[in-house]
Amino acid sequence: MHFIKNNAIVVTKTPHTAEEFIQKKIELLTDEAEPFFAVDLEDVCNKHIRWLTLMPRVTPHYAVKCNDDINVIKLLAYLGAGFDCASKGEIKKVMDLGVSSDRIIYANPCKQSSFIRYAQEVGVEVMTFDNKQELLKIKQVYPNAKLVLRIVTDDSNAVCRFSMKFGADMKTAHELIEKAQEIDMEVIGVSFHCGSGQMTSKAFVDAIQNARIIMNYGIKLGFNMHLLDIGGGFPGNIGTEDYFAEIAGAVNRALDEHFPDDGTVRIIAEPGRYYVASAYTLATNIIASREMIEPETGNAKYMYYINDGVYGSFNCVLYDHYVPVPSLFAKNASNDKYTSSIWGPTCDGLDCINTTIELPKLEIGDWMYWKNMGAYTISAAVQFNGLPFGKPLYFMSKQFWDTVKAAFLTVPRKYQADTSAIRLNSTDCSNEVEDDMLPWLPEDIAED
Ligand code: PLP
Repeated sequence: MHFIKNNAIVVTKTPHTAEEFIQKKIELLTDEAEPFFAVDLEDVCNKHIRWLTLMPRVTPHYAVKCNDDINVIKLLAYLGAGFDCASKGEIKKVMDLGVSSDRIIYANPCKQSSFIRYAQEVGVEVMTFDNKQELLKIKQVYPNAKLVLRIVTDDSNAVCRFSMKFGADMKTAHELIEKAQEIDMEVIGVSFHCGSGQMTSKAFVDAIQNARIIMNYGIKLGFNMHLLDIGGGFPGNIGTEDYFAEIAGAVNRALDEHFPDDGTVRIIAEPGRYYVASAYTLATNIIASREMIEPETGNAKYMYYINDGVYGSFNCVLYDHYVPVPSLFAKNASNDKYTSSIWGPTCDGLDCINTTIELPKLEIGDWMYWKNMGAYTISAAVQFNGLPFGKPLYFMSKQFWDTVKAAFLTVPRKYQADTSAIRLNSTDCSNEVEDDMLPWLPEDIAED
């Protein structure tokens, strides 16, 4: 396998695990290297296939905020997903790839006026709101917008809660529908978000039931309520497959009960972490270490400083309450363990990735890798202290991609992007081809 540069897309002949991929990349390094992500594009495709299989009535609109990696957006656009955008910047990023405006929901209940104007200019009609001031503002800026009323949920079992900031309670939701009718604004549906990293399917079931009540009220007042948006919150880490299946089952049953499949209501969702969490494995390098001997016991403790931290790819520690645990390569798998801590590369004391972990003794230059690093990591990373953070390096096997391409040519065209517009930048991939590697050529993507 030959690596030209970071950000390359490597298409291998046979499937690889992230660990194998990282190992090969490291073997080829001649000098100290910067952190990088092994991005398993097959995993993203598999998530999409699993979504369509387990929740066939729900069209996913990928939440770009979760990870705005251009190649993931391109891939999902190709596979036929829609997009949840939170700002002008995200709308532009998605539409610049040729994705049509009707595949986008502007799902931020509190928006800047100029961004609403931009949405109007580019034809993104569907947007959420959850309060009277926002309703009046949209009326002023974009009177023809199609509004989706976001209701509050019980997100007490979620990792990241939103209910303190967004969502109308049931009483307010009724009043907002009335207000919309009074000022002649079109409400087309209801949305909710059960919180990111939601741990119970009941939250979805209750929210679907509440959405039905608000939809009924809208219909009673004469609105054509035809969109239900069940938000994000679906788990995406390795090992959460059964839990996702359980949520999907509960959602399907609640939909069948409250929104029978009679063609009157289109159902969408805004999954973020589901799609990307497990696809990204971060590889980091130990750049410094410190040994400390406890005076009372004489035991050694170690502090390791690695070349990515909470201001970079590990900002999920701050945003997402994530406790990252590293995986080590076989050569480090000694039985003798020492109490250790792992720190980022900046000069800030807050930059701690793991405060207490038992590890074998590691050396400067050793690599460790971190699974489940795709959600809320690079999308919020900054170069604090002038330090770089993980750069994505993508992989997928040719065999798999050929199968996926064949399968997705059967997806109705109206759900697909204009594939002629989906192009990998020439800088994204290399034209140098080794025996076991083919670049993921633009022609491959557009070929149908
Ligand atoms: N939709 C909205 C409005 C959000 O705010 C978020 C996350 O912040 C998402 C979708 C994605 O959530 P998740 O990554 O948990 O699926």
